[in-house]
Amino acid sequence: MFDFRSSAEWSTAIPALQVAARCTEAVRTSFDPAKLDKSDKSPVTIADFGAQALILDRIKKDFPNDDCVAEEDSQDLIQAENQSLLNKLVSAVVAIDSEFDQSRILDSIDHGNHEGGDTGRIWTLDPIDGTKGFLRNDQYAIALGLIVDGELAFGAMACPNLPLQFKDPTSAVGSLFWAIKGKGAWMSPLNEVEAAKSIQVKEISDLSHASFCESVESGHSSHGHSAQIAERLGVTAPPVRIDSQCKYAAVARADASIYLRLPTRAGYEEKIWDHAAGALIVEEAGGKVSDIEGKPLDFSLGRTLKDNRGVVASNRAFHDQIIAAIKQVIST
Ligand code: AMP
Ligand code: MG
Repeated sequence: MFDFRSSAEWSTAIPALQVAARCTEAVRTSFDPAKLDKSDKSPVTIADFGAQALILDRIKKDFPNDDCVAEEDSQDLIQAENQSLLNKLVSAVVAIDSEFDQSRILDSIDHGNHEGGDTGRIWTLDPIDGTKGFLRNDQYAIALGLIVDGELAFGAMACPNLPLQFKDPTSAVGSLFWAIKGKGAWMSPLNEVEAAKSIQVKEISDLSHASFCESVESGHSSHGHSAQIAERLGVTAPPVRIDSQCKYAAVARADASIYLRLPTRAGYEEKIWDHAAGALIVEEAGGKVSDIEGKPLDFSLGRTLKDNRGVVASNRAFHDQIIAAIKQVIST
């Protein structure tokens, strides 16, 4: 069997995610997450900036020639002209790694300003995917993907609040997932990679046994359309609503068989960091990922998936039927 430890990307990404998760969890559980609203009105916290600084610093050191596309930009912090917020960020990062200071933190954050594209090695990071879930003490993911010449090559994500067993909320909390193109997908407890096991999507004989997941936020995915699609497909279980790329993890480890992300407004372009890690994890677990028209997600076009609309991830078996049902409900 393939030894994922032999992957240089794995050896960098997994400790980086674990360290970042210590930072985000410390912020979430111990003090004010110090939130501010970005220019697009979406929330960001010092934990988002802290996780981005810790992870990109490590990537810069281990892979100095690679580019990075990450969600956060230090301009949002600086424009807020809020020195107390910046001080809280520095304290949160220094508490995890005392080698950091303000300028190293800001430099690392801005190492993620690359435009993306179809050539070379490009890491893409969402330091806290599902910030709204994070602020509600719900699910969130720290998601890191690697795109090589426009194709997904590696993906990993830490889900610090996700129980190891979905159906057993008393099971230990904190899950880690990763996938290597052509080699498979694995999960482990967040801080115990020795207990890793390979994961596979759910096998179901009939769509009536399927369950689907979608965003908690109705502004991110149309709940009305998904209910109509589920009805057409004969899916009877109510939707499981989860924040962040934990939805991809749920499909990859067979908690759910379908993830629907249905556009809520014309013109929204999905961001590559919201999908790279999760999509590869589902595909390497045997599933299929496409947009709502059935087209593969194209990660080679810059910071967004500008040629795609919405996302559908499934256990593969019923993917075409799901796309056909979407076509009947949503005019594409
Ligand atoms: P989720 O937790 O799955 O609801 O997704 C969180 C992500 O939704 C954030 O990281 C945003 O980048 C993204 N997002 C923001 N606005 C929209 C929108 N209108 N449609 C789809 N995704 C969005
Ligand atoms: Mg996100």
